[in-house]
Amino acid sequence: MELMPAFKLHQPADVADAVALHGGAEDARYVAGGTDMLVNVRRGIERPATLVSLEAVAELKEVSEDADGVTIGAAVSLADVAALEVLRRDYAAVAEAAGEVAGPTHRRYGTLGGNLCLDTRCLYYNQSEWWRASNDYCLKHRGDVCHVAPGGKKCFAAFSGDVAPALLVHEADVTIAGASGRRRMPLAELYRNDGMDHLTLAPGELLVAAHLPKRTAGWPSAYAKSRIRGSIDFPLCGVAVAFDGKDARVALTGVSPHPFVVSKTDAGDLVGLRDRVQSQAKAMKTTTVPPHYRRRVAGALARRLAEQLGT
Ligand code: SF4
Repeated sequence: MELMPAFKLHQPADVADAVALHGGAEDARYVAGGTDMLVNVRRGIERPATLVSLEAVAELKEVSEDADGVTIGAAVSLADVAALEVLRRDYAAVAEAAGEVAGPTHRRYGTLGGNLCLDTRCLYYNQSEWWRASNDYCLKHRGDVCHVAPGGKKCFAAFSGDVAPALLVHEADVTIAGASGRRRMPLAELYRNDGMDHLTLAPGELLVAAHLPKRTAGWPSAYAKSRIRGSIDFPLCGVAVAFDGKDARVALTGVSPHPFVVSKTDAGDLVGLRDRVQSQAKAMKTTTVPPHYRRRVAGALARRLAEQLGT
């Protein structure tokens, strides 16, 4: 790890100020818990000249419930998300996924927004500066070649946030704030299948909140993941399943550059569901664990969760 480089720190008290400060600074980044981003800074992967702290922005820490559903601010800690009674009761997969992120200390500092906007990960990217330099870096950062797929021009680094698939199976929206105002969109539209540029946020845009709709409240749902170190790790693959009364909805993380909903999942056909998940989990060699193992585990976890939910 490198020493922490010098940077300017702003501590705005509301969303509008945060966006304005970000827009007025060169090479700025938002920071909340910082559990992943500050590691990247110390590895020399990111070198922001300015950090805009979201710690004092009260709106981002609010949780509310109304006739439309539940809204969770982006700076609510993952530990608090995991403990929210309304989620444990009506959107169980979301609480379970938040409770499965990393270890207890990370969950106290790490936030919902940070987990949703997590940078993509790869064996050849999440390394120290000297390690990456000695391998001529890679396509995602400062290099010309992808060491996972050397002939291609695409990055397969995996999105590894745990909470996104759980929100996806409950059809969540997100609110985004930027210089020109706010917009709301389905969470799925926050992502693109490109490890180098996996978020659709425009420069300076800030994730404000996630919204869980009332229509999906009470759907039986669950989340499970496979990881190397059971007490702390990112998912080798993570699977969320929800049952809408007719179909099983399955979403995956950790197996491609974006979290995504698996297509056509017939709840009555558990073997078919397993095979469909396995075929759509296009894991690449971005971890120390072979891709085919991650694909098979994704299928097995999906089948197990669907069985457990009684779909
Ligand atoms: Fe780099 Fe390729 Fe890994 Fe992307 S998938 S981080 S380009 S080695």
